[in-house]
Amino acid sequence: MIIAVDGTLASGKGTVARGIAQAFGLAHLDTGALYRAVAVELLKAGEDPGNAEAAGNAARHLDPSRIDPAAIRTADAGAAASVVAAQPAVRTALFDLQRRFAEQPGGAVLDGRDIGTVVCPDADVKFYIDAEPRIRAERRWRELAANGEDIQLADIERQLAERDARDSSRETAPLMRAEDAILLDTTHLSIDATLAEAVRMIQNKTGVSPRN
Ligand code: C5P
Repeated sequence: MIIAVDGTLASGKGTVARGIAQAFGLAHLDTGALYRAVAVELLKAGEDPGNAEAAGNAARHLDPSRIDPAAIRTADAGAAASVVAAQPAVRTALFDLQRRFAEQPGGAVLDGRDIGTVVCPDADVKFYIDAEPRIRAERRWRELAANGEDIQLADIERQLAERDARDSSRETAPLMRAEDAILLDTTHLSIDATLAEAVRMIQNKTGVSPRN
């Protein structure tokens, strides 16, 4: 069983995807971490994230087992990831890796921006998670503040608008809802309630029961 979870920045898609994986005993891949890791490699090397050749090269040599979770979670890494992700050479390099993960025996949950549209158009169930920008900005601000990052809510709101615009308007694999994706709006719904709804929908659609 393959489950695709796409959505906007800080919509709760990562938490929902992890919860689905746990409920059904599936492997989970946060595909945003791959783009963030490529961006961090470039920043560390003093390269411009917009340099297509350097970005493609970093993506081809990415070793997912060596991603540093703390280094990729910063606001700078996220902003650079969105620049890196607009480059076709990067997307091509990361496609095979994601596809192999999706096809593993036992099934998988992948979350990102183009899972239901490009990486796994054949997914058994697809979700598109969204929420109003203000709510998403507050969530991301709390997350970064908890990690000790000193950043203003107004700056997050501005970055979020920029990234939404860049992710949705890029030519290759833009962020968009797959026609057959179920829309879950987390503006007024807690992430736990959203997860419960997603689990129920997967069970209804596939006949597979959660393990817990
Ligand atoms: O989800 P997260 O914020 O970690 O993603 C970081 C960036 O990586 C996004 O802004 C987006 O530009 C890019 N991304 C993508 N396709 C994916 C996952 C992430 O383009 N499947």
